[in-house]
Amino acid sequence: MNHHTRRRLVMGNWKMHGSLAANAALLDGLAAGAMRAGETQLAVCVPFPYLAQAQAALAGTPISWGAQDVSVHTQGAYTGEVAPAMLADFGVTWALCGHSERRALHGESSDLVAAKAASALAAGLTPVVCVGETLADRDADQVERVIGEQLAPVLALGAEALARLVIAYEPVWAIGTGRTATPEQAQAVHAFIRAALAQHGAGQTRILYGGSVKAANAASLFAQPDIDGALVGGASLVADEFLNIAAAVA
Ligand code: PEP
Repeated sequence: MNHHTRRRLVMGNWKMHGSLAANAALLDGLAAGAMRAGETQLAVCVPFPYLAQAQAALAGTPISWGAQDVSVHTQGAYTGEVAPAMLADFGVTWALCGHSERRALHGESSDLVAAKAASALAAGLTPVVCVGETLADRDADQVERVIGEQLAPVLALGAEALARLVIAYEPVWAIGTGRTATPEQAQAVHAFIRAALAQHGAGQTRILYGGSVKAANAASLFAQPDIDGALVGGASLVADEFLNIAAAVA
């Protein structure tokens, strides 16, 4: 099976941006232009308070919505946490797990990230597990070791779980920096991740690339055999640019 048989997925990560008014315009623009994505699956991961707004604006459109984090706990005395069943209550499809900003700014370990993925799966959500090396890792030739360590507890969830999640490769040095990995650099890591997934019986799990993806560089990334779509930060805040990424032809 080649990458044309895996449905391409373009997912926005709004991070901590937005307001009711700004989101309304953005969501309306996305809903109005969703057809431009063709066969590509479209999704947006919004801040928790705006999940209801996303649900109201996107229900009945081809665009699905997700959260940027999820708790490992199902309920209880966990102030500030959001349980996966709460996300499901708002029609959520996706939960980012272990975005590099959460790993770096909130000390999330790879074990915790894998536990979040399991927690999301148990509630019927699709985890999007983010991995990626820093520039120091890359300069020290440690990319595969670092990605391998981040993946290990996720791979341990087993083939059935792996077939139901999505991996996002996001080199930290390419996130929000305007500096994209070259298609060849990205493909090399995607192939490494694909091989690890295949060894665990899940060679067809989708692997997204993230890191300064924009309409101008999307097609060359999507042309790579193991890049199944994109996780998009900054460019997902502009409806036209985000839709142009989704419409980019490999
Ligand atoms: C991200 O936040 O996942 C991301 C890839 O951001 P950006 O596209 O802005 O680099």
